[in-house]
Amino acid sequence: MPSLISLVVPFYNEGESVDLFAQGILPVLSTLSDTEWEIVCVDDGSKDDTLKRLIALASQDSRFRVVELSRNFGKEAAMTAGLDSATGAAIIIIDADLQDPPELIPDMIQAWRQGAEVVLGRRVDRSTDSAAKRLTASWFYSLHNKLSKIKIPSNVGDFRLMDRCVVDALQQLPERQRFMKGLFAWVGFRTVTLDYVRAARNAGETKFSGLALWNFALEGLTSFSTLPIRIWTYLGSIGALLALLYGLFIVGRTLFLGNSVPGYASIFFAVTFFGSIQIISIGMLGEYIGRIYMETKQRPIYLVRKIHQNSPTSLS
Ligand code: UDP
Ligand code: MG
Repeated sequence: MPSLISLVVPFYNEGESVDLFAQGILPVLSTLSDTEWEIVCVDDGSKDDTLKRLIALASQDSRFRVVELSRNFGKEAAMTAGLDSATGAAIIIIDADLQDPPELIPDMIQAWRQGAEVVLGRRVDRSTDSAAKRLTASWFYSLHNKLSKIKIPSNVGDFRLMDRCVVDALQQLPERQRFMKGLFAWVGFRTVTLDYVRAARNAGETKFSGLALWNFALEGLTSFSTLPIRIWTYLGSIGALLALLYGLFIVGRTLFLGNSVPGYASIFFAVTFFGSIQIISIGMLGEYIGRIYMETKQRPIYLVRKIHQNSPTSLS
C-alpha cells in the first residue's frame, strides 16, 4: 500500500506563483515511488487571482484540494486550516513561493520512513533574505530561547514534514493565537534536521516585513514565556529596597546634620523615572491581558468558505 502524503501550502496573493508552484512541485512528486499525494492549497483570502488559478489547477488534477478561507487570517491560521484538512500519514508544509526547495522532499520522506516523526528543514544560507531580516531573526531566536523553556531551533522555518501523530498532537492545542514555530517545538517528538539553502522567491513579494515581523516576534515571546511580566516583580522589589535604604539615609542625615534644602531635581527624576517604569510594566501586563481576552472569546481560528476538489472518479 503506498502511503498517502499531504502537502500543505498557504497562498496569499500568490497569483504569479500558482502555476510556477505546480510546475516546480509535480515533477518531484512523480519521482517518488510508493507514495500517493494530496496537495492542500489554502487560499488565505487572496485579493488577486490566486483562488481562480488554484481552482483551475484543482479542476485538472484531483490531487489538489483548495481550502478557501473567508478572509485573510494570516499564515499561522492558514497553515492550521491546511493541517486540519490534510489526511495523509505524513504532512509536509511548504511555502507557495518555493523558497523552500521541493528537492528536499524525497530526503524528508526517507528520514520519515527511517523512523523520524518530525523532519525539519534548516536554512544554512539565508543570503536571499535581507540583512536586516537575518539580523532581527537571530536576535529573536536568541532572546526567545533565553526567555522560554521551549527552545525554537534557529533558522528553521515552517518547511517541515510531520508524522500523523504530530499533527494529531498539534490539533489538541486549543490556543487561538497560533505561533506555529513555538507550537511545533512544544509538541516535541523524534526530530531529524536536514540542511538546505533558501532560494529567492519565484515571483511576487514577501508578506512579512517591518511591523508584521515585530508583531510576530512579540506574539512568539508572549506565547511561550511569562518572564516579561515576572521581571517587573523583581525590578519593583529591587527599586523598593533601594528607595527604603535611601529613606533611611535621609532620616539619619536629618537627625544628625539637620534639614538641608531638599533637592527638587532628584525628586523630579525619581517621579518621572519610576512613573515611566510603572507605565511600561502596565503595558506589559496589557500585552498578556489582551491575549487572555482574545483567547477567552473562543473564536474559531479560521473560517472556510468552500472546499474545491474534483473527485478522482469524475476525471475521465
Ligand atoms: N502567507 C499566507 N497568509 C499571509 C501571509 C503569507 O498564507 O497572511 C503565505 C504566503 O503566501 C507564502 C508563505 O505564507 O506561501 C510565506 O510568506 P512569504 O513568502 O511572504 O514570507 P517569507 O518567505 O518572506 O518569510
Ligand atoms: Mg517566502
